[in-house]
Amino acid sequence: MFDTGRQHGDRPRTIVVGAGIGGLACALRLAHAGHAVTVLDRLPSPGGKMRQVDSRAGPVDAGPTVLTMRPVFEALFADVGARLDDHVTLIEQDVLARHFWPDGSDLTLTNDRTANTAAIDAFAGPKEADAFRRFCTDMERLFAAFDAPMMQAPDPSVMRLTGRVLQEPALIRLMAPLATMRADLRRRFADPRLAQLFARYATYVGGHPAQTPALLSLIWRAEEQGVWVVQGGMHALARAVADLAQAKGAVFRMGADVSRIEVSNGRVTGVTLMTGERLEADTVVFNGDPRALATCALGTGAAQVATQTLTTPRSLSARVWAFASTPDGPDLAHHNVFFAADPDEEFTSIAAGQMPADPTIYICAEDRGQGKDPPLVERFEIILNAAPLTDAPRPEKEAQICHQRTFPTLARFGLTFRPEPDEAALTTPSGFNRLFPASAGSLYGQSPHGMTASLRRPRARTAVAGLYLAGGGTHPGAGVPMATLSGRHAAAAILKDRIST
Ligand SMILES: Cc1cc2nc3c(=O)[nH]c(=O)nc-3n(C[C@H](O)[C@H](O)[C@H](O)COP(=O)(O)OP(=O)(O)OC[C@H]3O[C@@H](n4cnc5c(N)ncnc54)[C@H](O)[C@@H]3O)c2cc1C
Repeated sequence: MFDTGRQHGDRPRTIVVGAGIGGLACALRLAHAGHAVTVLDRLPSPGGKMRQVDSRAGPVDAGPTVLTMRPVFEALFADVGARLDDHVTLIEQDVLARHFWPDGSDLTLTNDRTANTAAIDAFAGPKEADAFRRFCTDMERLFAAFDAPMMQAPDPSVMRLTGRVLQEPALIRLMAPLATMRADLRRRFADPRLAQLFARYATYVGGHPAQTPALLSLIWRAEEQGVWVVQGGMHALARAVADLAQAKGAVFRMGADVSRIEVSNGRVTGVTLMTGERLEADTVVFNGDPRALATCALGTGAAQVATQTLTTPRSLSARVWAFASTPDGPDLAHHNVFFAADPDEEFTSIAAGQMPADPTIYICAEDRGQGKDPPLVERFEIILNAAPLTDAPRPEKEAQICHQRTFPTLARFGLTFRPEPDEAALTTPSGFNRLFPASAGSLYGQSPHGMTASLRRPRARTAVAGLYLAGGGTHPGAGVPMATLSGRHAAAAILKDRIST
């Protein structure tokens, strides 16, 4: 047995199960606060979804690609007496993304609202440029209004949010509380391409545009405020947080699969690994999908935690190609989107658990946007939205069909890759479910559908004393910045509860 008590003296013993960015952010803060922190993860390296896979041009990202909300990461490092820039190199992107449609049109959006308005004027005319300007102003106001009482708050409540709206009643009209993103964007933009472009932000939190509340269009504002490329790939950011946590004394044990969270008399006492090894702790932070607790995948001791995940729908999954190749065709930026001809068909198929015949295809050209020419053989991550695991039959020959729906579609846009990747480069929803247990392949926790979905996520504190949650399945939700904030909420709750006991 691993005697954490003797090893760590009188310091509070904390185990963080999961080295995803939420777990890492929490571990770093607690190690800095003097806890004896042990981070356990079943995967071979830290980062969770911020993972990389091998390619013939070196490691390539196979998880998140769009880094927004830089201040969240600056605050994480500053709070432990460090500087983000000393640990990771972030390169701000002038071009947020290039967008392509099957009719041959394309639109490049940048980090400059005036330039974007001019680009939309040229793309779709002055009325749409006006609509875009209004959309930006409205989303800026909504983002500013809900940042503090929702994203930054550990325990947001209907009362606090209502209080905020009552201070500025004009927000109600901007929120369009009865509308979905798709409906509100179709009201705002006459050009269906623009409605399709901004509705895609629903997928950033794993939602379908026709079911995600209009309010979540404010995600655009996060992107408008800046997008950064991490030198070395997104994984390098997770690695930097892990390294700093380690420098502050956190112990990392990778390849450590936790089979049970031990609870006695309503209080957490430690964890047991698949190998049978038992580790004792005063505090356990669970960074995996909270549904794992409710489904008793980690024993029955924490079965009453996050039970809402048993009944709420799951967020989207994805099919992800990560590979190295030489492209030929349109000039790519770091982020590129090739839109489906019919956005409704795409999401209707996904809602039915099927692979869309004509998908929207996102491409991250990882080596671009770094101030130098890309190499001959470049690294790419291609993401297609997919249903989480449902009762619908799994597609036979999934990789082969996905290949047919990805690369010939891109060829119709004039984009080809030599060579095209093979099956080994694809991660499917079942693959994500294997990587992230009990997730049903969902990449963003429970679905954001419905006006109150954001308030129904599990919080950092649980009904089991000493057991806390951090990660994208927990408030304030998915995405690298949000999961990082959840780590802050978990660490703050742990430190506060310790003082009060
Ligand atoms: C393909 C893809 C694209 C994305 N794109 C973006 C994007 O562009 N921008 C963005 O901001 N976000 C994006 N996201 C979402 C973002 O990656 C996640 O919200 C965030 O990284 C989740 O972090 P987390 O803290 O929830 O931990 P996770 O990354 O979910 O990690 C959880 C960790 O817990 C470990 N674990 C679970 N159970 C156990 C156990 N029993 N024992 C030991 N270890 C365990 C797992 O191995 C894993 O390492 C994307 C995600 C994916 C997959």
